[in-house]
Amino acid sequence: MSTVSPRVSGAERGQPVADVAVIGAGIVGSAIARELAGYELSVILLEARADVGDGTSKANTAILHTGYDAKPGTLESRLVASGYHLLSDYARQTGIPIERTGAILVAWDADELAALPAIAAKAAANGYPRCAIVDAAEVYRQVPDLGPGALGGLTVPDESIICTWTATLALATDARLRGTGLRLGHRVRSVSRDGEVTIVHCDTGDVPARWVVNAAGLGCDQIDQMFGYDRFRVTPRRGELLVFDKLARPLVTRIVLPVPTARGKGVLISPTIYGNIMLGPTAEDLDDRTATGTSQAGYDFLLSKGRKLMPRLLQEEVTASYAGLRAAVDAGDYLISADAGQCYLLVGGIRSTGLTSCMAIAEHARDLLADAGLKLTPRAEVPEPPRMPNIGEAFLRPYQDAARIAGDEAYGRIVCFCERVTAGEIRDACRSPIPPADLNGLRRRTRAMNGRCQGFFCAAEVGAAFERCSSQAHRTSDPVEALA
Ligand SMILES: Cc1cc2nc3c(=O)[nH]c(=O)nc-3n(C[C@H](O)[C@H](O)[C@H](O)COP(=O)(O)OP(=O)(O)OC[C@H]3O[C@@H](n4cnc5c(N)ncnc54)[C@H](O)[C@@H]3O)c2cc1C
Repeated sequence: MSTVSPRVSGAERGQPVADVAVIGAGIVGSAIARELAGYELSVILLEARADVGDGTSKANTAILHTGYDAKPGTLESRLVASGYHLLSDYARQTGIPIERTGAILVAWDADELAALPAIAAKAAANGYPRCAIVDAAEVYRQVPDLGPGALGGLTVPDESIICTWTATLALATDARLRGTGLRLGHRVRSVSRDGEVTIVHCDTGDVPARWVVNAAGLGCDQIDQMFGYDRFRVTPRRGELLVFDKLARPLVTRIVLPVPTARGKGVLISPTIYGNIMLGPTAEDLDDRTATGTSQAGYDFLLSKGRKLMPRLLQEEVTASYAGLRAAVDAGDYLISADAGQCYLLVGGIRSTGLTSCMAIAEHARDLLADAGLKLTPRAEVPEPPRMPNIGEAFLRPYQDAARIAGDEAYGRIVCFCERVTAGEIRDACRSPIPPADLNGLRRRTRAMNGRCQGFFCAAEVGAAFERCSSQAHRTSDPVEALA
């Protein structure tokens, strides 16, 4: 494990100084902390909330993009393309659920049909040559329940769906296993400089570090200002989504996309990794960075879109709706920039592709830090990546695994019946290196209460199991040390 040395003067004298403090434990900050912790560095990951992955990273469309439609030549285009492969490989190593469903862009009018060759050429310019233009008959062969009026389409065979919750948790867990100190409930309020050290002032105390990485998502412009900059503003761009019941799943076997516009990727219909169908997202600029509630207007808008795209879908029930906030910035690209003088790295403007690109962003951040003077010595031994519990519908779940149940009957005891979550999975989540802080955290780790009844039937029992397992887990020592 890396060491920290006491080098701070003044009020903070005696506090160990981390080599790097990463602000924000979303998928981007977690990937960066994991990457840096593969070197002889002490790394601290600071997160305002009580859990990792509790910001934008928990509420997106969960598509692993090939990057076919990015703006060629941008940093985003490069990092999405490489992030796609990095996260695909990492998913295989760690068991993050992922399905290569492919996607089809559907043209609904003559202008959209005429735009398809340019999109295919753009994909090729982005290093993705596998798009193909297809006629209307092929579109309906691939998506038989599509509404009437499709004129043609473009296939993107490698677009995939992935579990964003498990992905963030895997990266944060890996960072933790590599020795990263995870400080939850640490909202950064200001920073100050003391010699060669930055003191990061949090609600819960000060954290001295030689280098600071700002991966604060919606808050990254505010952190940037703490370092004396005034170079961009984040606009929270809300995206609302509807989740349809599992009975709708046979209607859509691949991601059905609109032809993208300047404002974004538009409203899609996609299978989810949990066996549902999703319709969304909207795109609405707001002022409030906390406005993750859904709205009647968003609901009505999505239903009107769904009615045209796939009328048959609207005969199925909506089981949930949710919203996420993209950290939109005016720049047409990611804002990733090092300040060697202040030993500071901004990783901002990661708007609508950060799930896909997170691991490539982490490598890019590492290289910029090295160029700015951070000494990187690979660690002689790096722990194996964690093997994550599977919550994907297409893969074997504990309740289906006779051998596992024979070895531990808790995997045969279902607590959440809609999603078939067992007592064993709830117990494992509570004993994991980053246990859930509350029932929402448990949902993201197990799918408990995520199904058709949304906890109406099982919430009391799930809550009781969670309380019981959490208090038992708290009585044991640090779960990471317990694993060693
Ligand atoms: C509707 C929608 C759909 C999307 N679909 C996709 C998709 O299909 N594929 C894809 O690749 N991407 C998608 N994205 C984008 C993707 O979700 C984001 O790019 C990614 O989650 C950004 O991760 P992050 O770590 O930068 O931000 P976050 O997950 O928001 O993490 C930032 C963290 O910083 C913390 N923080 C903020 N301020 C402070 C502070 N002062 N002190 C301490 N901590 C702080 C926050 O609490 C938060 O946890 C979508 C986004 C949305 C909203």
